[in-house]
Amino acid sequence: MQLNEIYRELGISDAVLSFSNNIIEKLKPRFEEIDSIAEFNQAKVINAMQKNRVNATCFAGTTGYGHDDVGRDTLEKVYASVFHTEAALVRPHITCGTHALAIALSANLLPGDELLSPVGKPYDTLEEVIGIRESACSLKEYGVTYKQVDLLSDGSFDYEGIKNAISEKTKLVTIQRSKGYQMRPSFSTKQIGELIAFIKNIRPDLTVMVDNCYGEFVEETEPSDFGADMVVGSLIKNPGGGLAPIGGYICGTQKCIDRCAFRLSAPGIGQDVGASLSVMTSLYQGLFLSPTVVAGALKGAIFSANAYESLGFNVVPNSTEPRHDIIQSVELGSREGMLAFCHGIQAAAPVDSYVTPIPYHIPGYDDEVIMAAGAFVQGSSIELSADGPMREPYAIYFQGGLTWQHAKLGIMMSLQKMLDAGLINL
Ligand SMILES: *Cc1c(COP(=O)(O)O)cnc(C)c1O
Repeated sequence: MQLNEIYRELGISDAVLSFSNNIIEKLKPRFEEIDSIAEFNQAKVINAMQKNRVNATCFAGTTGYGHDDVGRDTLEKVYASVFHTEAALVRPHITCGTHALAIALSANLLPGDELLSPVGKPYDTLEEVIGIRESACSLKEYGVTYKQVDLLSDGSFDYEGIKNAISEKTKLVTIQRSKGYQMRPSFSTKQIGELIAFIKNIRPDLTVMVDNCYGEFVEETEPSDFGADMVVGSLIKNPGGGLAPIGGYICGTQKCIDRCAFRLSAPGIGQDVGASLSVMTSLYQGLFLSPTVVAGALKGAIFSANAYESLGFNVVPNSTEPRHDIIQSVELGSREGMLAFCHGIQAAAPVDSYVTPIPYHIPGYDDEVIMAAGAFVQGSSIELSADGPMREPYAIYFQGGLTWQHAKLGIMMSLQKMLDAGLINL
């Protein structure tokens, strides 16, 4: 059987396949760059595993209190080595990225302290953590105030505004690396480093936390290489490599991590308890695979940016910009476009490929939202997935793909559904 025959059986026409292959042919130099970053990060991860003497006993798991859980303790050392930090808290008990961020913030802010975001509005779910939107148990309820300095209109840092916003009360600065679901640029680790240097120059005692979600292993460095006191993320995104079924991480200074551990479990207990049950192998193996999984996701993002841009759609980031995270947005311009795109992503999935995503109202959002995902791990967004609110400019955000080949199929399928709906001409 020929390749185009199996693609035809999957539902991809020869027209879509040859359009796609022509685009991909021109991306070879960029893909090589991505592969060399993956090679660097793969070596970094293996080095960290070897240095910390990872061995079969690490995969055994514990129950109950989990005292002396070698696998858990060693994994935390491996993460600290990878991120070049003094310490790390990496646990299946951290339920998601928002939880990890909430721990890092609430452990290191006390009543009377002020939190500063110098990069504009943080990720949606943090609004209730901080108290921007009212919520029980928010930082605001505990007497922690919040200040925000928006980015300038060109997406750069408002250094003057940031300087003016730092006061006696300021205690912690939070920087989000990825644009998340906004139309602002994502930041390189180097840009984040410049911002950290500027802030520490004004007040060396300030704690800087970076929300590292979707950014891990996209570059050869991490924000912790540039002076961040804490970097925080989710294991069902990049660093879990698609295999981690749950979990979050916080890597940083011993001082910060000790406080985070007391907040996660209990004061006095910290990192000593926390049984790892039977998930350790997946957390190690997922981290091991993460650099190449991230590379596959990035290739998919770049392919789609180039394909859709060539068809006349506005894409963020555009076809040639450097990448600092794995998220791609495509302004499809219509409800029908969003439906077709999501149908394509869903139809290409290894799981639930036969279901049809439909827009629906979810709490906290004004507009209907559509989501496409056929994932092995529920809600995992390192797996190929797409979502977006049904409103102007009808932009879809998509990310992930455990392999480049699957990402390619997903994007080709989205093109096929757009073609079938008469929304594009090839
Ligand atoms: C996904 C994400 C979060 C929240 O993570 P969840 O696992 O969804 O709770 C926070 N910040 C950014 C930038 C994210 O992308």
